[in-house]
Amino acid sequence: MRRFRVCSTLLLLCSSAGALAAQRPAASGKVATPAAPARSGPISNIHYDVAFDSAMAARRTVRVAMSFDVGPGTAPVLLSLPAWTPGAYEISNFARWVSGFSAKAGERALLWDKADPDTWRIRPTGAGRVTVGFDYLADTLDNAMSWSRPDFLLFNGTNLFPYAEGRGFDFPATVSLQAPPDWLVATSMKPAGSPRTWTERNYHDLVDMPFFVGRFAFDSSTINGKVTRLATYPAGSLTGDTRKAFWDQAGKAIPAMAAVFQETPWDTYTVMMIFDSSYGGGSALEHQSSHVGVYNPMMIGTPLLASITAHEIFHAWNVKRLRPADMVPYEYERAEPTPWLWVSEGITDYYADLALVRGGIVDSAIFMGLTAEKIQTVAEAPPTALEDASVSTWIHPTDGSGYVYYPKGSLAGLLLDISIRDATDNRRSLDDVMRELYRTTYKTGRGFTGTDWWGTVSRAAGGRPFADFNARYVDGRDPYPYDAMLALAGLRLAADTIREPRLGLGGAADSSGVRITAVQPGSAAEAAGVRVGDILLALGDVAISDPNFGPAYRARFRNAEGQDLPIKVRRGTETLTLTGKVRLIEQVNAHVEADPNAGPKAIRVRTGILTGKTGQQ
Ligand SMILES: [Zn+2]
Repeated sequence: MRRFRVCSTLLLLCSSAGALAAQRPAASGKVATPAAPARSGPISNIHYDVAFDSAMAARRTVRVAMSFDVGPGTAPVLLSLPAWTPGAYEISNFARWVSGFSAKAGERALLWDKADPDTWRIRPTGAGRVTVGFDYLADTLDNAMSWSRPDFLLFNGTNLFPYAEGRGFDFPATVSLQAPPDWLVATSMKPAGSPRTWTERNYHDLVDMPFFVGRFAFDSSTINGKVTRLATYPAGSLTGDTRKAFWDQAGKAIPAMAAVFQETPWDTYTVMMIFDSSYGGGSALEHQSSHVGVYNPMMIGTPLLASITAHEIFHAWNVKRLRPADMVPYEYERAEPTPWLWVSEGITDYYADLALVRGGIVDSAIFMGLTAEKIQTVAEAPPTALEDASVSTWIHPTDGSGYVYYPKGSLAGLLLDISIRDATDNRRSLDDVMRELYRTTYKTGRGFTGTDWWGTVSRAAGGRPFADFNARYVDGRDPYPYDAMLALAGLRLAADTIREPRLGLGGAADSSGVRITAVQPGSAAEAAGVRVGDILLALGDVAISDPNFGPAYRARFRNAEGQDLPIKVRRGTETLTLTGKVRLIEQVNAHVEADPNAGPKAIRVRTGILTGKTGQQ
């Protein structure tokens, strides 16, 4: 997963696109729902049929039929829908979007009821084929969910494909699609032989293959000897030079990433992108051989889009294959918190930046700018341990620490990379750690543990211990020792201090306007009584319609320290004018730059990081 809010230091990258903000809607439902263990009667020969056409699109509905064999006897069949989609670490309860449920054996209706909020209990009357059917409301523009337009459908298997509860996930299934013949289909599912029919050998793979159905642009290219496909909706959204640039960047970034693991693990890889101007910012979700990104069209042509794309593709190795043991196997009925998202997400983000610079898509100055931006984001967030931020993401904390494991985890990757290269005079690197863990855990059919991780890091660094690093910077909240560590890589951190108006608010666009998603403790916004969930309407005489209201606010009030600030919000049905004060806060603008006085070893480390090479170069 990668979601982002672009801040001032990244404006450089956004160029005329301006800054964007994105955050997912607040999760609904509880994180932990450990129901009493229930076991469905056995079912086999499972087939899912998905139907979607213009008439259904008008109702934003997909029709799903699931059929299976039951044996003799009348053991109830318990069918559940997942509570979440792996990678989108929040409880969504996809059963919420189901309506018109029915169960039949032949033409005969079967009795059914709900066994728990996301489980249907069907009562077969004997051996034979059973079909359950339901409508699914595809109206949520979110990469983990289902969304339709008059000529288009995105769906995720976690949304539409029930499984028999308590029977494990190691069952094969086929999927067929009924849709107008002139509509396209994009998915990484394996074709099953007959038209518009696909198969996977187990449920984990089945629900890891999102679908695009309808009219969209679709082309492909061979990269690293494997087919990469690009599906973009609407069809006219990524065309001409911007599409050419996508392919150019993919052709540079994918080999740079594959070099880390020395393999390209997919048969085909499908990049699936939706561009929609109602979407504030961008967010993308990884799968083993595809990813789905939803973006504001202003992102087209920005290096940020290239960075998110690289991040998602790197996940094909890191998290979809090399994965913390806490999430092996995925469970679908409950949250699976892990303290290791700083590796799965943060270090993925480090490698996304590395892929851009190693692939020659950006230069080293941009790489250092991206690094500085992460340092800045971490500095502005409350001090939060990487492990705690990883575990907490499931409840979307509102104190500003919510996603700090991305930039802070990325910087941990940089610091570990520097440590390993410094300890070995650039003979080993974090690449060796990722490659060895991939080989010793994923390739042997298991997830990695803390012992695996730190043992591998320490071995790569020639036996250097990392218990202190772990205690202070991963389990603990100590500030990173940037000056000492960056110096080992011939880099230095410079900072300008400025004072500017800051409210301490985070916002995201939704259908009601700019909704407040975070209020920093101790901030001017908190003192004024702004609450998470308020719709922000105006700050003084600055009307708010864009979630990236910060620059306009700062420009308008930069000389107004201490002035009263009327903050107009809508809270429920009421419109309120809260009274705040303009507060100027000291902001540190971080820059990372090459140290002109770096010694030869530090230069070797720096060059190694930027090129992916080890040894003396
Ligand atoms: Zn991610």
